[in-house]
Amino acid sequence: MNKGTGATADVRNVVIVGSGVAGLSAAVYAARADLEPLVLEGPEPGGQLTLTTDIENYLGFPEGIGGMELIQNGKEQAERFGAEFTHATVENAAVEQRPFELDLSNGSTLRTRALIVASGASARWVGAENEDELMGYGLSTCATCDGAFHRDDDLLVIGGGDSAMEEALFLTKFADSVTVVHRRDELRASEIMVDRAQEHEDIAFAWNTELVAINGSQEEGVISATLVSHPDGYPQEKYEAEEDVDVEAVDVDGVFYAIGHEPNTDFLENTPVVLDRDGYVQTAPAGGAWATTETAVEGVFAAGDVMDPDYQQAVTAAGMGSMAALDAEEWLESTDSAVASNSEPIPTEVGD
Ligand code: NAP
Repeated sequence: MNKGTGATADVRNVVIVGSGVAGLSAAVYAARADLEPLVLEGPEPGGQLTLTTDIENYLGFPEGIGGMELIQNGKEQAERFGAEFTHATVENAAVEQRPFELDLSNGSTLRTRALIVASGASARWVGAENEDELMGYGLSTCATCDGAFHRDDDLLVIGGGDSAMEEALFLTKFADSVTVVHRRDELRASEIMVDRAQEHEDIAFAWNTELVAINGSQEEGVISATLVSHPDGYPQEKYEAEEDVDVEAVDVDGVFYAIGHEPNTDFLENTPVVLDRDGYVQTAPAGGAWATTETAVEGVFAAGDVMDPDYQQAVTAAGMGSMAALDAEEWLESTDSAVASNSEPIPTEVGD
């Protein structure tokens, strides 16, 4: 590959937005291809895996591995091959021009030929009354971060997926009781997680129930929660339509949200990169290969939870990260414009 043609010193070959498992995997592959990637670590460095406990289904770890450990190992691996890391989020992405230009939260601007979007997803909020005020004061989206503050407490976990089961199980280490509040009477979580949660003596289930308000203050923390329920499920919409539902205030010391995630794509909203209705980056929007990380903009690739509403697994994100780096490498090769690793050093940022 002719990597020298068309290179200028202040333009990166590839910038990777996000340092979760997808971003790190892309960084390993891009660094091994001598592309000298720069990884932007956002507000949650290491992504969602750093918030989970043991990962039991990542291939190669028969006894499981801690999320934080997996991420730290991945970062070391990427650095070993020459990937660089910096803390910043992208505030504006000009991808209709070449090279692409990224305005960062630290006030600087980056220029890059290729861009890999691996910015992941963030926890969704329920929309219950007082949640803005109480987030961080007894209301949380992360049991591994905040569970230890709840020794001998009575807690609610909202949601019916794997995350809710995992959070509930983790919280039993500290709490007196954990009640999983789910809007239907059937869980979405995988069978193994459902079995574990249902067999646990400290976990109860509130079926066909939703949270409409959290009561308390920043001084006192959470003191109770207002729940609505209806035997047909989805009680909140019935409550809002003023239909007959059961309304109950229960005394609790903490509430944990585990109702899924939203993709971190704000910085792509007004760009030609196509997002779907829920904000996920659409890959292969014009058809194309059966599996690709290409977006609507040539040279912009996406991997992991930011483009995958379906699988959302650590192992699939890692796979897609490697695909994005391979796709970026091939694209750079086809445009004949990547900078050789032995060319003059590329500054990390310009304009600061
Ligand atoms: P999820 O599978 O999308 O489940 C979200 C849950 O929250 C669903 O039960 C949903 O109810 C409920 N929900 C959504 N919006 C709600 C609202 N506004 N109010 C009340 N409830 C609401 O999300 P997840 O549990 O975060 O899992 C995401 C992915 O990560 C999945 O693929 C999962 O397998 C994976 N994951 C795996 C593990 C593991 O293997 N250990 C752990 C965590 C996550 P409905 O069911 O009614 O839609």
